[in-house]
Amino acid sequence: MNIAIVGSGLTGSLAAISLASAGCRVDLYERLSDQELVNRDRTYAITHSSRKILINLGIWSHLQTHLVPFQYLNVIDYELNKKFRFLVNDLDISDQKYSAVGWIVEHKNIMDTILEFIAKIENINKIPTSVIPNTNNYDLIVAADGSNSAIKKKLKTPSFNFNYDQICITARVLLRGVDSNEAFEILNSEGPFAVLPLGGDLFQIICSQSIAKGTHNKTLSKSLFLDYISTILPYGIEPDTIIDDPTYFPINFVFNYSFFSGKYIYIGESAHKIHPVAGQGLNLCWRDVKCLSNIVSIPFLKNNYSFIPFLYSFSRFFDVLLISILTDSLVRYSRSNFNIFMVPRSLTFFILKKSKIIRRYILNLMTNGV
Ligand SMILES: Cc1cc2nc3c(=O)[nH]c(=O)nc-3n(C[C@H](O)[C@H](O)[C@H](O)COP(=O)(O)OP(=O)(O)OC[C@H]3O[C@@H](n4cnc5c(N)ncnc54)[C@H](O)[C@@H]3O)c2cc1C
Repeated sequence: MNIAIVGSGLTGSLAAISLASAGCRVDLYERLSDQELVNRDRTYAITHSSRKILINLGIWSHLQTHLVPFQYLNVIDYELNKKFRFLVNDLDISDQKYSAVGWIVEHKNIMDTILEFIAKIENINKIPTSVIPNTNNYDLIVAADGSNSAIKKKLKTPSFNFNYDQICITARVLLRGVDSNEAFEILNSEGPFAVLPLGGDLFQIICSQSIAKGTHNKTLSKSLFLDYISTILPYGIEPDTIIDDPTYFPINFVFNYSFFSGKYIYIGESAHKIHPVAGQGLNLCWRDVKCLSNIVSIPFLKNNYSFIPFLYSFSRFFDVLLISILTDSLVRYSRSNFNIFMVPRSLTFFILKKSKIIRRYILNLMTNGV
């Protein structure tokens, strides 16, 4: 099967490897150089669903030195002043043997490793251009061209989308009073706030705030920003040094009503984009890749590829919908600090803290998808 993939971000690149190993001939279109693809200042939380995909493709062992595992995911409700933890024991038995709830990895390491893999695969042909390929030349065209997808605009594919009235701030900070195997999801009235371990005392903070607060924080010097961070970190954790300038970006939600249009298939952020602070985005994108490769590998479909776009779109719909709803609920829960919400909020937190079964169910959903 001849496939064009437009976009060589983390989704398109992994799709190229996965589809090539399923026997397809892949043309990978990308407008940026490899250096530009690598030079993005982001940090990802990797779940067990991504681990399984990377193991199947033989990439996991090459990444191992760059992965920072965490054994505890602490959830802290600031408004209620309460806390519970997700533990390795809350995972499925088959995932527990990896001794991690998840892993943190920096973008440059993961992108570098994946690009090295692509360079070694014969049936992937890289095409440096921003021109959208002609449908006549391919059996399928995979749009992995990100949230501003030119393909989606060209085909006028409808989607449900809105902007959160929030800004996301990311920064790398040295912290005292926290173990290097712990991650935090802190729920306060400004929005959720994640603290992710990067090894030793180094942590990535991913913090969502109201536009008013975020706009004000943009004007702060590094030292004042550090003072501000100390006011929102859990008791006993002290920020020591901020490593680089914080990055600010707006947050929006996108959900395509359909993940295909004719021969075009949408994967990754061209199909869906969710709030970054729950650490689900990339994992969801990679489950798109796995689903597409599984469908392409079905022998009957190798000669009947016109069924593939619909089957793919149908198969992905429920996982993407559920994770989008869960992530959005987390944001709304975090910001619901009016008195009227306090009783249901306390009840929800109480149930999560006390019920191991519900905690396990939620963790496994966020970790392995639907
Ligand atoms: C600050 C930040 C923190 C995040 N943290 C997390 C996290 O902790 N965990 C997590 O799972 N996810 C996280 N995410 C989300 C994650 O980064 C995205 O889900 C992921 O990068 C999406 O990848 P993509 O390949 O779909 O899109 P992109 O990375 O946007 O890639 C699209 C590619 O297509 C190329 N392209 C576009 N148009 C064309 C064209 N016409 N021709 C050729 N090429 C084209 C672009 O150059 C680009 O390389 C975070 C995002 C941000 C911004």
